[in-house]
Parts: sequence; structure tokens; C-alpha cells
Amino acid sequence: MTAGIALTAARVAQVQAALLAWFAVHQRDMPWRRTRDPYLVLVSEVMLQQTQVSRVLPKYEEFRKRFPTVRDLAEAPVGEVIRAWAPLGYNLRAVRLHRAAQAIVERHGGEAPKDLAALRALPGIGEYSAAAMACFAFDQPVVVVDTNVRRVVGRVVVGDGAVAARTIHDAAQRLLPRDSARDWHLALMDLGATVCTARNPACRECPLRMVCTATPTFLSPKSRLAESRGAYRVNAKPFIGSRRYFRGRVVQALRDAGPGGVLRLSALGRAVKPGFTESDLPWLAGLVEELVRDGLVELQTVPWTGDSEATGASIVRLPRA
Ligand code: SF4
Repeated sequence: MTAGIALTAARVAQVQAALLAWFAVHQRDMPWRRTRDPYLVLVSEVMLQQTQVSRVLPKYEEFRKRFPTVRDLAEAPVGEVIRAWAPLGYNLRAVRLHRAAQAIVERHGGEAPKDLAALRALPGIGEYSAAAMACFAFDQPVVVVDTNVRRVVGRVVVGDGAVAARTIHDAAQRLLPRDSARDWHLALMDLGATVCTARNPACRECPLRMVCTATPTFLSPKSRLAESRGAYRVNAKPFIGSRRYFRGRVVQALRDAGPGGVLRLSALGRAVKPGFTESDLPWLAGLVEELVRDGLVELQTVPWTGDSEATGASIVRLPRA
């Protein structure tokens, strides 16, 4: 029993057998699945967290060539890593990845630790990335819960609708085949991406249809409509004009300034916001301060010398160290 959910040994065995058999035929081939190098696993997992596979594919290859080892990444200036991260967005991921690479080199001599707790202790590595590294690089039987895993496990074990994170984790732990954790998670991810999709699960083609709690619900057109309006509704908040949008614009403007390029605060404002005026400077200064705290940019006041328009002004650049 898992959090009040009936998961008998027989049912667990049925789910495992059906999904692994399906995976043996339908698994997706991706470059990061052909390696066990923990560094490359980490790079791919960080890229994939908030970006679609199709956008990650070319960037992963490019990034891998530019920073082939964890040491190459650790020794590069963070500004160069931020530059190389374009156009993936969520640039803070580049800073965190760089910090993690530095810690792997400094604390572990360039060899990522296998232990989940030691991985979790690395700066820039969250619970998900640590679990993904332990499972995909080191074949450890740890639970890895991303969006697809959460959705598939929730539907199979509980049914349609929102399910508490603790329940999902417990159910995923119970379902996990300890001797094939890597394939198991890749299978859940592939099924979630191609068959058990958020808005339109193809239950008739699903290998789990005979053991899934949600199947009868989704085969009813009425309930499928409820699904599209319910737990998996797309967040409709506008992106353009949001704080995240302008954070991305600032970083991109500094990339466009070229290696070593700097921009005065007012020039930066004109580059990121149409119709920027001096009255927007406090807003921009707040945004830049936030980016400085996150390690994404550097802010510097040039001492006044009187012989250049730039002196006495605040200038912004990508980090040099
Ligand atoms: S039977 Fe339907 S709801 Fe259940 S896992 Fe398969 S696609 Fe998802």
C-alpha cells in the first residue's frame, strides 16, 4: 500500500513489464542517452529542465564541443558560459551549471561523486539534477520525478487530476525496478512525451492501458475535456513585458555588445526597453542589481576623470571571472 493507494506486487510487476517491453521498441534516441559521463548527463539535464528537446539538441552538441570536460567548463569565465548558453533562456541555469562544475573540480578532483547526498551538496544542483545524475550516469536506483514521470505515475496509480507530490514520490518508489532504474525512468519520460501527453493521452495505444487507473476516464470524451481545462492547463501569463523577459533582454544586450563589451546603464535601458527614458532608470537599476546578485552580470562605476563620456557612470557587463 502506498499512501492509501493499492499497489500490489502483482500490479507493480505488470506495470514494469508492460512499460519496459514498450520501451525496448519505442525508446527515443538522444545524444545524451549514449553517454554515462556524469558531466554530460548534468549538462543535458540542466538544459532540458525548462527547454524542449528539439531546442536542446543543437545547443547540447555545440556546448559539448566548446566545453568537452567538466574541467573545461569550470576553468572558463562564467561570462563566456552565459554567452554560450544563448538562445536557451533561463540564463541562471548557465551560472548554476558553472558553479557545479567548479565544485566538482575543486572538491572532487574533477570526478563527480556517485553518492546522492554528495551530488545534492554541490552548489547549483537541485534535488532533480542530483537524482538524474545518480540514475542516468551511475545506474543508481533512485527516483527521478520530472513533469512526464509525475503525470504518468499519477494517472497510472491514482487516476485523472492533481496528485500530491508525496504520493507521486511514494508511488514512483514502489514502482521502480531496482535493477533497471535508468531504462525505467527513460521509459516513463518517453511515454509521457509521446503517448501519455498532458492534453491528449493516447490511451488506446498505450502499453499501460490495462493497468492504468485513468484509462476509463480518458476514454470518455467528457472527461478528456475536463482534463484539458483542469490540472494541466497551460499557464497563460504573458511573457513579453514580464520581469523574466527583461532579465533575458539585459543578458542578450550584453552578449550583443561582444566579448568584453560594456554598456552604460542608460544605453542598456534603450537596448532592452522601447521608449526607455531617464525615469525608467530606478526600475533598470533594480533589475540589474537582481542580476548581479544572481551572478549573471557585473555592475561597475567608472571613476570620474572628466576625459571620457563613460567616466563617472555605471556600466554593466557579463561577468569576467
Ligand atoms: S492508459 Fe492513458 S492515462 Fe494511462 S498511462 Fe496510458 S496514456 Fe496515460
